[in-house]
Amino acid sequence: MASNEKVLFLPGDGIGPEVMAEARRVLEWLESNRALGFDITEGLAGGASYDAHGVPLTDDTMEAAMDADAVLFGSVGGPKWEGLDFSLKPERGLLRLRKEMDLFANLRPAIVFDALAEASTLKPEIVSGLDIMIVRELTGGIYYGEPRGIETLENGARRGINTQVYTTPEIERVARVGFELARKRQGRVCSAEKANVMESGVLWREEVQRVRDEEYPDVELTHMYADNAAMQLVRDPRQFDVIVTDNLFGDILSDEAAMLTGSLGMLPSASLGAADDMGRRRALYEPVHGSAPDIAGRGLANPLACVLSLGMMLRYSFDLGSEADLVDTAVSNVLSEGLRTTDIMQPGKTGVSTSAMGDALIRELDKVGA
Ligand code: NAD
Repeated sequence: MASNEKVLFLPGDGIGPEVMAEARRVLEWLESNRALGFDITEGLAGGASYDAHGVPLTDDTMEAAMDADAVLFGSVGGPKWEGLDFSLKPERGLLRLRKEMDLFANLRPAIVFDALAEASTLKPEIVSGLDIMIVRELTGGIYYGEPRGIETLENGARRGINTQVYTTPEIERVARVGFELARKRQGRVCSAEKANVMESGVLWREEVQRVRDEEYPDVELTHMYADNAAMQLVRDPRQFDVIVTDNLFGDILSDEAAMLTGSLGMLPSASLGAADDMGRRRALYEPVHGSAPDIAGRGLANPLACVLSLGMMLRYSFDLGSEADLVDTAVSNVLSEGLRTTDIMQPGKTGVSTSAMGDALIRELDKVGA
């Protein structure tokens, strides 16, 4: 790795700073014990930025994000800022980052740690050992397509319109992300659409197949209708390795897959932008959960989703696969030891605070990785 990769930390609001502090300890452990150098800076986002500067993200912070090799984001929002004008709401800070960094591919892994297999609503024998990756196209499709709106017809009835639209380059670039990921995993991609009833789905299927044939012949590609994919995810989720799908279906399938794992406090994510000439991608990593105002400031938050997001950063932005494996192993081991924050508490296990979970992670890293 080139020395001193630039990492921008944006802890945000609520439990964001609490979980981020534990992720930072893990990164600093790697610096001390793996001879890695990171240039870590921290900025304000969301309500914290509004309180200090009157906007949910300043231009300076936006510039720092564009300049960073990777951004680790906590969470934003909370009742304190609910009355603000829409343009000033904390969530607008995150949306600005996603938009200006052109983060078109959202990666949502669904991993079931052995120690938590019982926490899933599905039977342990269906989910244990689950490790799938959903790649959702994030900046196109029906959430952005024109025309859109609600209109009143001559007969007085109202009509709501949204347009599902994809172009070849939009499909190609997200497909490539899926194929690249598959090469680092089990080498299998399943593309999900509705080619049976939607022309945009026909185009999606044809283009994904073409990219595979021309550029990734070593990767196995299958196609599945999105409704069938939804069924297969609860019937036999382990049949999948990487699923690539559009914005709308990805929204639904990634939440469905997330719930196979049982807890919001365990779910990391990554959002990737286009690669530049050097192959460097803009990237933002964040836990899937929000700012959890109901438990903020009480040491109750589970930091593991944020720590696992850091692990994704090591793997996907810095190509530090063995360090990412180390982080994943430390997480798996603290769970096997029976340590639990309240969100994942089970009978007979040991309840720990946010920082005690961080202490345990560092102890594990010392044990398995020093
Ligand atoms: P939430 O994810 O914050 O919380 C949902 C429930 O899960 C709460 O009971 C919370 O205590 C619990 N929870 C979430 N993360 C946890 C963790 N790490 N450890 C333990 N328990 C955890 O969702 P919400 O309550 O719908 O939203 C709260 C605020 O967060 C809102 O202002 C919302 O807009 C914002 N939000 C932000 C993001 C983001 O920053 N990416 C995402 C979702 C929601």
